[in-house]
Amino acid sequence: MRSVSDDFPVSTVLGYPRIGPDRELKRALEAYWDGRAGRDHLERVGRQLRADTWQRLAELGLEGLPSNTFSFYDQVLDTAVLVDAVPDRYRECADPYFAMARGADGVAPLRMTKWFDTNYHYLVPEIGPKTRFRAVADKPLAELREARELGHETRPVLVGPVTFLRLAQAAPGSPDGFTPVDRLDDLLDVYVRLLSVLAGEGVGWVQLDEPILVTDGGSPAVRHAYRRLAGHPRRPKLLVASYFGDIADALPALAVTSVEAVALDLTHGVPEGVELLRGRTVVAGVVSGREVWRTDLDRARSLMAAAGATRVSSSCSLLHVPYSLRGEDILPGRLAFAEEKVAEIVALAELGPKATPVAAVTGAGSRRGSDTGVQERSAYAVRAAAQRDLNLPVLPVTTIGSFPQTAEVRAARQAFAAGRSSREEYESLIEREIGRAVALQERLGIDVLVHGEPERNDMVQYFAEHLDGFAVTRNGWVQSYGSRCTRPPILHGDVRRPAPITVRWATYAQSLTGRPVKGMLTGPVTIVAWSFVRADLPLRDVTMQVADAVREEVRDLEAAGIRVIQVDEPALRELLPLRKGDQDEYLAWAVAAYRRATGGAGDSTQIHTHLCYSNAAEVLAAIDALDADVTSIESARSGTGVPGFGRGLGPGVYDIHSPRIPGQAEITARLQRALRNIPAERLWVNPDCGLKTRTYEQVEEALTNVVAAAGAVRASTEDPGDR
Ligand code: GLN
Ligand code: ZN
Repeated sequence: MRSVSDDFPVSTVLGYPRIGPDRELKRALEAYWDGRAGRDHLERVGRQLRADTWQRLAELGLEGLPSNTFSFYDQVLDTAVLVDAVPDRYRECADPYFAMARGADGVAPLRMTKWFDTNYHYLVPEIGPKTRFRAVADKPLAELREARELGHETRPVLVGPVTFLRLAQAAPGSPDGFTPVDRLDDLLDVYVRLLSVLAGEGVGWVQLDEPILVTDGGSPAVRHAYRRLAGHPRRPKLLVASYFGDIADALPALAVTSVEAVALDLTHGVPEGVELLRGRTVVAGVVSGREVWRTDLDRARSLMAAAGATRVSSSCSLLHVPYSLRGEDILPGRLAFAEEKVAEIVALAELGPKATPVAAVTGAGSRRGSDTGVQERSAYAVRAAAQRDLNLPVLPVTTIGSFPQTAEVRAARQAFAAGRSSREEYESLIEREIGRAVALQERLGIDVLVHGEPERNDMVQYFAEHLDGFAVTRNGWVQSYGSRCTRPPILHGDVRRPAPITVRWATYAQSLTGRPVKGMLTGPVTIVAWSFVRADLPLRDVTMQVADAVREEVRDLEAAGIRVIQVDEPALRELLPLRKGDQDEYLAWAVAAYRRATGGAGDSTQIHTHLCYSNAAEVLAAIDALDADVTSIESARSGTGVPGFGRGLGPGVYDIHSPRIPGQAEITARLQRALRNIPAERLWVNPDCGLKTRTYEQVEEALTNVVAAAGAVRASTEDPGDR
């Protein structure tokens, strides 16, 4: 029996990396931004990358090639341009597109935030009651025609209307109660128009990406949107792509519409009610676009069978994995990057579905969190008493860890890694940098010092390089945003700490000063969040192994005489599950992992933690449950005020994300505001994040003001007449 949509290709991907196998796009963008190359050069590089991608996918035997998955910056930004949702303040800019992405003289860029639970960041569209939508189909049409000229028939990919509006924010000045989704019908008018333009070009299929389907509460808008879009006569066939989780109750909502095909992310199991999709094409996302492991083909085939699918795809765009294993020699036989995943998809399409007992197929099923299973610390009051001999003043001043990373240090690290310089040369340079940071902090009058982290390329990669169970790639870059890429380590086996990692540098710094130096560690949740992680163990178990390694490091720092230890968890919120119902379980084990990492510290050791945000209502209780003696958070940007913390708290008073130097009066005012929520004996004074992206000049000036402000406020709180 053939259904109307049997012409959907047997194998496809939902999207593909675009930064270039050697990060060609990154270099072209940066050359264009710096004025070293013209627009035509950038366009040429883009065209070449698209051509190479289609050709490579075709060579690998993939049948369904996507188009419009390329972007000069971000696909959500492209969608805003596609529907002409360009805020007025950018329209006069020389280059409105990059002005929205990066700002232009005097005009701030759009806000940027994480794309679901990935490490990719998108630009947040601003939609107001008066935003005038208009179909500007240039980009998808241009890519479609470009591919045709090269002999490829492609499937244009668009961010779907519901996801677009749900990810947007209300434009400044919108009335209370307005949300961008209120504009759904107006936006649908434009999508109808776009689809009819594409139909006019003879396009057979269009893919509409709706990852919002795997979050809570999207079903009514989805039902409405796809009834309208699919109900329109002049349009290509529609593939609605759901990914990053279980589609759950959005599945019946889609099933009442007449979209021809649905792509399901089956790496999260086969959704309940999948039989409601009978009669249409189910595209089985069985090759994970989020992991770097080879696919178990037997399991993938059973998932296909259980979902009634004969079409195979990646679970989401392959944007989130590196290009290929070429040039890598780690973990032979275990890994698959984008190209290798395409080969798996092609193989699976050929093999087809194969039924096996369902038990082997449904949900990986996460295990329950448990308590830490190891010795924990005493109550805060007991610890605070034991830490009194640190002799800190009220309103102690500290920093978050890193000091400026100079070009000299970076060059020295590269030379050492490439074997061009000796370990002694490298290490003596690091010691000199530490000496410089410590001397500066003493001169400025900082109370709790740091060594400055000059030996670290990155707060996760550095630990990955020193722990067993991790591998690092040569060229495994993944786009984070715009031209920025990260090279996540691969956590592939049992994590063990073969030797102390940071003790050498912390004790060196401590030897230079009589003031306490903080030992600096990255927390277990952040280490797993910013790595590709093995899939054969529940994430919580893997995180506990990392926690044990951190626990050993804490013990050794303590034994070496380090009295203050900071364990950073800036990624605590990043792993938060997309559905509310799953969040408590995650937070329970994330907190348990942190407490396992720090709980071995004696009462007289002061444990600090740092997170990069404070406006995270969902995780506030969890931050509190970390039970650190001192918590530093960002709030220079989001405004001070995290009430109800029973322990030390350092709301950032210097916004390090900007080159601007805050004045003493401004910092004093922030501290005074903070004192309304936090008693003086528990208030700390610090910047809102590490200083590594700033210059020494900026840091010296800013910290001078920070110390002076702390001194002024300290004097006023100590004045009994003031109480
Ligand atoms: N200790 C790290 C630093 O100072 C923390 C960085 C972060 O929070 N992302 O750089
Ligand atoms: Zn931070």
